[in-house]
Amino acid sequence: MKAWNMYIDGQWVDAEERIDVANPATLEVIATVPKAKEKEAQAAVDAASAALPDWAAKTAAERSALLMNWFHLIDEQKEEIGRIMTTEQGKPLKEAIGEVGYANSFISWYAEEGKRIYGETVPASAPNKRIFVTKQPVGVVAAITPWNFPAAMMTRKVGPALAAGCTVVVKPSELTPLTAYKLAELAEEAGIPKGVINVITGDAAAIGETWMTDSRVRKISFTGSTNVGKLLMRQAADTMKKVSLELGGHAPFIVTENADLDKAVEGLMGSKYRNAGQTCVCANRVYVHESVEAEFVEKLKASVGQLSVGNGLDEGVEIGPLINEAAVDKVKKQLKDAISKGALLETGGEALSSEKGYFITPAVLTNVSDDMECMIEETFGPLAPVTTYKTTEEVIKRANNSPYGLAAYVFSQNISEAITISEGLEYGIVGLNDGLPSVAQAPFGGMKESGLGREGGHWGIEEYLEVKYISLGL
Ligand code: ADP
Repeated sequence: MKAWNMYIDGQWVDAEERIDVANPATLEVIATVPKAKEKEAQAAVDAASAALPDWAAKTAAERSALLMNWFHLIDEQKEEIGRIMTTEQGKPLKEAIGEVGYANSFISWYAEEGKRIYGETVPASAPNKRIFVTKQPVGVVAAITPWNFPAAMMTRKVGPALAAGCTVVVKPSELTPLTAYKLAELAEEAGIPKGVINVITGDAAAIGETWMTDSRVRKISFTGSTNVGKLLMRQAADTMKKVSLELGGHAPFIVTENADLDKAVEGLMGSKYRNAGQTCVCANRVYVHESVEAEFVEKLKASVGQLSVGNGLDEGVEIGPLINEAAVDKVKKQLKDAISKGALLETGGEALSSEKGYFITPAVLTNVSDDMECMIEETFGPLAPVTTYKTTEEVIKRANNSPYGLAAYVFSQNISEAITISEGLEYGIVGLNDGLPSVAQAPFGGMKESGLGREGGHWGIEEYLEVKYISLGL
């Protein structure tokens, strides 16, 4: 069992107390990490603040070269990082290694994009004046990340922040901190100077508050629950930090009358059951046109029935455990509520008798109505509730009837209908005949209570930049 330390100012440091990290597939404690409090949180900001002037003064090409060193080391060790991730988070090894590749694509993409932080000159209103507009790093960035994508949620923030010339303090989830520490180890090996990346684990509320009240932290980038996101935004108000929030979702998945049903099922399998349904862009509510429901459900049941559930380190496993007992209880509660209101359980929803961990088999519900909990609250588990609809207008209205607005999916072969639905959806991301839309070069983020700002693409780096206007009198 490894005892990991925190990474502050280029040093690996301990704290007075420690936290156990357990494998959700076996419930074994696999490592311990330090439990930082205010003192260590502040030390991390001291380090990031001290490192800022030199890092910001480097040329974009110099920062890019260091980011690419990091990228290559991560790429060389993707299997090992994947293994660490599977043992702390549960997702199947193949998916974990896939996540490392996805996470790394943010580093390489922003290593390039950092070279394109262009300014502008604007025609002045007087002949003896000139208007210059430049961009500069916002300063020290706090990044607080969740457990469902332990590598990608870190690099999606740290990649653009570093490329922009910012330094960072990172707090991964205490449930999955090891991947983040491994990435920090590789950043050190890559030659990224001390203090530029600092990673700590511990008392989340104490760390969050320390960072949010420190005026040297100029930006918070958070991915996690809507409640914590709202708290951080309130805490950030007093020092007027820039805020990026990627919060909960409740994605509708719409299958129209003329959809290619095989493609729609394939899309739903990726969107719903990847990471055992624990992603914020997971399909949560499936709306199928009433004329194709029977055929769609048959095909879906056949595909779901083939999914292999088990320890993510075992060959061929496609669905690992959920992260903890509360996650399993939430799925069970939603199943019970739906069944009590008339839904039919077509398959799944059972524990695995052969395993100790937090397993639940992938479930499909039909005869679902909009008043069931699973149609209102984020599931974060492998449960697909299927309901039917009659008209395009109706399905857009029902899909939008949610405080969330992160991702939505539409499967249709009719271009007019597909565009009408896509444009009518109040969601930041629409997967149109695509169940897996997330890539480094595209903007990821939500509307309404799903958050603020966008990560990815050229939009993502703007979140770490301030615009400066220089008015020059000749
Ligand atoms: P989830 O339900 O996905 O675990 P959370 O919002 O609880 O979502 O967790 C996301 C991240 O926010 C984690 O790193 C967690 O430790 C952190 N977190 C939880 N509570 C707070 C808080 N009060 N202040 C700052 N960060 C917090």
